[in-house]
Amino acid sequence: MIKIAVVGSSSMDLVVTSAKRPIAGETVLGDSFITVPGGKGANQAVAAARLGAEVTMIGCVGDDFYGEIILENLKKNHVNTKCVEPVTGAMSGTAHITLSEGDNSIIVVKGANDFITPEYVQKAKKIIEESDIVMVQQEIPEETVLYLAELCEKLQKRLLLNPAPARKISEAVIQQSSFITPNEHEFEILFGGRDRTEVLTEYPNKLFITEGKNGVRYFDGHEEKVVPSFVVEAVDTTGAGDTFNAALAVAVAEGKSFDDCLLFANRAASISVTKLGAQGGMPTREEVERSFE
Ligand code: ADP
Repeated sequence: MIKIAVVGSSSMDLVVTSAKRPIAGETVLGDSFITVPGGKGANQAVAAARLGAEVTMIGCVGDDFYGEIILENLKKNHVNTKCVEPVTGAMSGTAHITLSEGDNSIIVVKGANDFITPEYVQKAKKIIEESDIVMVQQEIPEETVLYLAELCEKLQKRLLLNPAPARKISEAVIQQSSFITPNEHEFEILFGGRDRTEVLTEYPNKLFITEGKNGVRYFDGHEEKVVPSFVVEAVDTTGAGDTFNAALAVAVAEGKSFDDCLLFANRAASISVTKLGAQGGMPTREEVERSFE
C-alpha cells in the first residue's frame, strides 16, 4: 500500500440553497441547509484513501463541535488523524456556501487552519519522511507551503502542489515542487498572463493544467498534450479538482507512466462529478477500475 501525507485544511461546509441571492442589506428566505465536511486538504485526503492509499492528514481543527465531526469523518474514511490536533480556543475552519441562481458564492473562515504553521508541520516530519508522496494546497499559511516545499526537497520527497485557491507562489516553491496542478484560472494567477505553451515547456511532466470537462494539458518533454476527460453527465463539479489531485498522487506513487496517471486521474475526477457533493462523489478504487472494463 502506498503512503501519502496530506498537509492541508479541513472545514465544515455550511451550504444553503436559495432561489434568490440577497444583496447587501437584504434578507431572503432560503430553501434548504446542510452541513458537510470539506476543506481541500481533507477532501484530497479522503479521495486518496478511497483510491486505496494509506493516508495521514497533517492539519488542525478547532476544539468545537465541528472539529469532532471533521475528525470523525476522516476516521470513517480511513484517514489517519494522529497528526490532526484540536487547537484549544480555536474554531474549526468553515465555508459558508450559498447556492443560488445557478452559481455558488462562498465565504471561507480559516479558523484552526491558520495554526498549521511550519513548526507544526515540523513535528510531523517523520510521517513525511515515511510517505511516498506529499500533497499540499493553499488553504494553509503561505509560509507553511514554503517550509514544506523546502523540507520535501531536503528529504527528497515528491511534493504535489495544488495551487488552489489561487495565489501567487514563489519561484522557489515552483522549483521545489515535483508536480503543480492549477486549473485554468489558477494558472493565470500563477503565471500572470504568460503564454501557456511557453510556460508548459519550462516544466515538462511537472505542470498539469486541468481544464474541466476538456481534461488536462501538459508538456511531456517532446510535445504539448491534452489528455481528454471522460464524457459524463455532470451533476456537481465540486471537488473534481480534489479528486483529480488525489488520484494523480496515488497513480504517481504507484509508478504508473504519466499518460496512465492522467488517464486514471481524469477517470476518477469524471466519476466524482456524476454525484452530489465534494466528498460524496469521490469514487472508490473499485469504481474507478470497474469503469475501465
Ligand atoms: P477544479 O475543480 O479545481 O476547478 P477542473 O474544473 O479543471 O478543476 O476539473 C478537474 C478535473 O475534473 C478535470 O481535469 C477533469 O478530469 C474532471 N472534470 C471536471 N469537470 C468535468 C466534467 N464536466 N466532465 C468530466 N470530467 C470533469
